Amino acid sequence: NEGIGSWPARRARKTPHRTALVHGSHRLSYAGLHERSTRLAQALRAAGVRRGDRVAYLGPNHPAYLETLFAAGLLGAVFVPLNTRLAAPEIAYQLRDSGTCALLHAPECAALVPHDALRTAVEIGPGYEELLAGADAAPIDEVVAPDDLCLIMYTSGTTGRPKGVMLTHANLVWNAFNVLVDHDLTADERALVSAPLFHTAALNMLTLPVLLKGGTCVLVGSFDPAETLELIDEHRITFMFGVPTMYDLMARQPGWDGADLSSLRLLNCGGAPVPTPLIRTYQSRGLTFLQGYGMTEAAPGTLILDAEHATSKVGSAGVPHFFSDVRVLGPDERPMRPGALGEVVVRGPHVAAGYWGLPEESAAAFRDGWFHSGDAARVDEDGYVTIADRIKDMYISGGENVSSAEVELALLDHPDVAECAVIAVPDEKWGEVGRAVFVAREGSEPDPQEVLASLAGVLARYKIPKSAVRVGQLPRNASGKLLKPKVRAQYGI
Ligand code: ATP
Ligand code: MG
Repeated sequence: NEGIGSWPARRARKTPHRTALVHGSHRLSYAGLHERSTRLAQALRAAGVRRGDRVAYLGPNHPAYLETLFAAGLLGAVFVPLNTRLAAPEIAYQLRDSGTCALLHAPECAALVPHDALRTAVEIGPGYEELLAGADAAPIDEVVAPDDLCLIMYTSGTTGRPKGVMLTHANLVWNAFNVLVDHDLTADERALVSAPLFHTAALNMLTLPVLLKGGTCVLVGSFDPAETLELIDEHRITFMFGVPTMYDLMARQPGWDGADLSSLRLLNCGGAPVPTPLIRTYQSRGLTFLQGYGMTEAAPGTLILDAEHATSKVGSAGVPHFFSDVRVLGPDERPMRPGALGEVVVRGPHVAAGYWGLPEESAAAFRDGWFHSGDAARVDEDGYVTIADRIKDMYISGGENVSSAEVELALLDHPDVAECAVIAVPDEKWGEVGRAVFVAREGSEPDPQEVLASLAGVLARYKIPKSAVRVGQLPRNASGKLLKPKVRAQYGI
C-alpha cells in the first residue's frame, strides 16, 4: 500500500508508543491508531466497502475522523469529509453527488444523516467501539497506488455550489512534503487542530504533515478562543493553523495578555485575506506568524511566507511551496510584470486531477498543466506574492482596479467595525464605486459617514467607498466566508 492509509502502520513500525492523537483526556499512540484503523478497515470491508467506494465522515474533530480516513485509505476507498455546518439538504446533495455508500458520523450530527440514501451508517460512540472490538485485526492486503483517488473534498462554496475536488494519495503526500520542508517540522511537533478537519487546511497543512513526521496532534471538537489560549500552554503547542477570524478572536480575549504562548514555534494563517494589524499583533508577542495561501484544489499549500521575511514582507503570502510552481498571469495568459495584477495559477504534484463529476468546470480551471485559481495577485521584484482578491470581487472605479478585500481590511482597522463587505455599485461618473456594508462591534453604533471618513489618508481616494450601510449581520457560508453574491443582491443597486 503506497497510499496514506499505510501511514499508521509505517509510523507504528518506527515510533509505536509515541502519542499520535490527543482528544480531551484520551490519548492514542501510533500503534493504537494503526490497530484501530485496521480494525475499522476490516469492519468496512465486511460491510461491503470495496476499493473506489466512497466513505464519508460527518462530525467535529475526533480521533475517529482520522481512523476513518486511514481505514478508507487501506481499502483503496475514497474518503469524503463533510462540513457539519451544512444544512441537511446540502449534506444529502454531497452524499448523492459523491455516491457515498458508507457514512460515519458524530452523535450530534444524527439528525443530518439521510439514512435511506446510505448502505451503512455508523454512529461514533459505543456502537463504533463495538464494531472495532468485533472486527478482525489482520492487515489489509489491498494494492493502493499513489495516483489512486484518496479524497473527494468539497470546496467552501464561496463563489457557488461547493465542488468536489478529486485528490489522490500522491497529491496529499506531496503537499505534506511541502509543509515538512517549508516549516522544518520535527518529530517533537505538537499541533493544535482546532480548525475543522473537513476543511483542507486543518487536515493537510497541519494534521497529516505532523502525523507523517511522528508528532502529536491535539484535536479540538469546537474552536473556543479563550480555551485555545489555555490549550496552547497546557499541551505546550508548537504549531497551529487558523483562519484570520480565529486568531483575531484569540487576541481579543481578556486572557490574551497573560497567556503563556512561549511553546509556539510557528503560526500559519490563511484561507481568507489576512489583516496586517493582526499579523503585527502576534509578531509583537515575539511569535512567528506566517501568512499562507492555498485552495482545496491544490491540496492546498501553494504560497507560504518564510520566517526570515515575516516582517520585511509582511502582508505577502510569500513564495511557492518547495514542490510548487506559481505564476501570476495576465489576460493574454503571460506572466505579469512585477507590481501588476494578474491571476494566480499553480502547478505541482500536489495539484488535484479535477472536479468530481464536473468535466466542464474541470476543463475551464485545470488547463495547460496549471490550475487557474480565480484569485488576483501581484508579484514584487523579489518574487513575493501578495494576494489582492478574488477576480470576481474586484471592480474598476474611474479606470483604476480596486480590490474589495483591500478596502475591507482597511475598514476592519476601525475600532467599531466588527465585520464588513465591500461591493461595487454602478456610478455615472466613475463607472463603478464601492459601497461598504458593515456590522458594528457590540455596544457601538458608529456613523457610516464617520467610518468612511476614517479611510481618508489610509487608502487612495478612488478606493474609498462612496456610501456605507450598517447592518445587523452579513451573509456567510458554512465556512464563515462572506457570500459576496448575497451581499450584492441585498445591498447592491
Ligand atoms: P469555492 O471554490 O467553492 O468558491 P473557496 O474558494 O472559498 O470556495 P477554499 O478552497 O476553501 O474554497 O478556499 C480557497 C480560497 O480562499 C482561495 O481561492 C482564496 O480566494 C482564499 N484564500 C486562501 N488563502 C488566502 C490568503 N492568504 N489571502 C487571501 N485569500 C485567501
Ligand atoms: Mg475556490
